[in-house]
Formats: sequence, C-alpha cells, structure tokens
Amino acid sequence: MALRLFRSPRVARDWRLELARAVTTFDQLERVMVLSPSERERVRQVCRVYPPFITPFLLSLMDPGDTEDPIRRQVVPSPLELEDPGMEDPLAEDAHSPFPGAVHQYDNRLLVVTTNRCALHCRYCFRKRNWRRPLFFFSWWMELEAYLKNNPQVEDLLISGGDPFLLPLEMLEKLLSLARSVETLKVIRIGTRVPVALPSRVDGELLRVLDGYTPLWICLHVNHPRELTEEMARAVESLSRVGCSLVSQTVLLRGVNDSWETLAELFMDLLSLGVKPYYLFQCDPAPGTAHFRVSADEGRDIMKSLWGRVSGLAYPHYAMDLPGGGGKVLL
Ligand code: SF4
Repeated sequence: MALRLFRSPRVARDWRLELARAVTTFDQLERVMVLSPSERERVRQVCRVYPPFITPFLLSLMDPGDTEDPIRRQVVPSPLELEDPGMEDPLAEDAHSPFPGAVHQYDNRLLVVTTNRCALHCRYCFRKRNWRRPLFFFSWWMELEAYLKNNPQVEDLLISGGDPFLLPLEMLEKLLSLARSVETLKVIRIGTRVPVALPSRVDGELLRVLDGYTPLWICLHVNHPRELTEEMARAVESLSRVGCSLVSQTVLLRGVNDSWETLAELFMDLLSLGVKPYYLFQCDPAPGTAHFRVSADEGRDIMKSLWGRVSGLAYPHYAMDLPGGGGKVLL
C-alpha cells in the first residue's frame, strides 16, 4: 500500500517526477524496502559506493519483502556486493577510447557513451563506475564528426549510456542529425532500458525526434518476463509505429533468469511484441557482481534446452565480452 501511495497518478503520468522521486540513498531505501537486521549495515556500506536508483514505477513492480523477487534482485543493493572487488572497467572501454565518450573496439562499429544518467541502477552494470561521476552529457560534437569522417570504415554507430533516451531531446536530435549527415554510416543503433524501466518517457516529444531519423535500431535491455508490463508494451508499439526496429539484449543473471523456462517465456513474449531477442550475455565481472554470475557451461545447457522449445526467431546469440577488451565471443 505504501508503495502505491508513493507512486501517485501524477507521478505515473510524468517521467520527470518519476526520476525526481527515485530512491537514491540508503535512508530512502529503508523507508520502502524490508531489510533484515543482518543485511542492513552492509547494504548501507554498498549504497555509499554504488548508490541505488529505483523509480516509483520499478518499486510498483516488485515485492519489497521478497529478497528473491527478480526485479528487486536487479536493483536493490545486496550485502554480497561487498564480497567481490571485480574489475572497474571490465571491457577496457577507457583503453579503447579515441576521444571522451567514444569507444572503438571493432573496426566498423563505434560506440558513444552519451550520458551516465539511467532510469535505474542495475546492480550488475559493467559501467557502474560512471554512477559515481557527476552527471554528464555528450559534448564532443566536433571530435565525433571528424572521427566519423576520417574513419569511413565505421558503418554502425551504437548510441549508448547510461540511457540515450534520457538525454535532453535537442541533444539526442543533434546526435542523430550528425550521424545521418555522415554518408558512410549505414546503421544507427540506440541501446536503452527506458521502455522497460521508465516507459512514460516514451512520449510524443521523444517519438517526434526519433521519427525524423528512422530507420533506427533500438536495442532494448530486458531480463525477466515481469518487465514486460502493459506500459512497456505500449512504449514498444509506439516505437515500432514511428519506424524503429526493435531487438533485445538480456543478461544471464543468477536468481533472476537462470532457467530455460523463464527465458523461454521472456523470449517468446518479446517476439510477440515485435521485439527480436538478439543477445543473451554473460554477466561481466564488474565490482560486486559475482553472486549474479552463471557459468558458461550452465548457460550452454540453458541454450540447449531452449533449442526446439522456442521459435527460431526467439532464439538469441549467447555471448560474452572477453574481459580486458578482447571483444565479443559466441559461447
Ligand atoms: S540501464 Fe544500462 S547503463 Fe544504466 S545501470 Fe542499467 S545496465 Fe548500466
């Protein structure tokens, strides 16, 4: 009941209020979540280093008293995060950065990290090092334009973050317009978790911007069937209507989706919404993520069980990013 009061109808309609009312500190977390006495102090320590970010919308999807709840596990800090130092930058993105915000690891693809603003803090995030930085938005326009023009082998631009759908819209539009002006660029992809975690942000203003630059590929990050809410389905439908093509990326997470039954439901439901399951990823060894990791052998067994049980269209690539920047490999 407390949670429903926390997300008033006014908040539900306004994505800015959703962000403003997000749980971002231990004290706020304690007000909305049941924490056992044994975990309380350690969760407080985790929050100091890697703070939570949980919108009222996400709170409304979870059972605050159930530590096994798959949504809660993804966003509520766990005492187990203290037990694993992990790697600050597991994909060595900083070492492959030709200018601030850009990562060039594959010859024909360029990634731009456009902001560190997210609609939620996923506890397993491999860019969680960015949560501690002051809020930033992409501002290296001249460098990006020159780099794309001087590197005509780059055919595919991945706009990522944080979440690009939380950029000020004039900035997102400037980025899309710049990308469209580079003739050698064939594909523009946007990686986002907004339709899942903050679907009210997929509003007329955002759709109008995207509409001007289609075809665009939207890579949705989604991990559990419970994330496929009515609000998310509406956001997906709106994106399709303006000419976006949608694929999904899922991280294989212990205690969230590490069973073929859960993934079969997720992938088939995504397909029914018009979203092609694209990648199932191993969890990267970022700090505090050991408790989420599933072995590659277990992952392969899950993939074998999925084969023949889901439509071929719903079957994703199973892959991992080699730590240290070695790139993606299929498993
Ligand atoms: S939305 Fe993406 S970038 Fe943001 S915390 Fe989650 S995984 Fe990391």
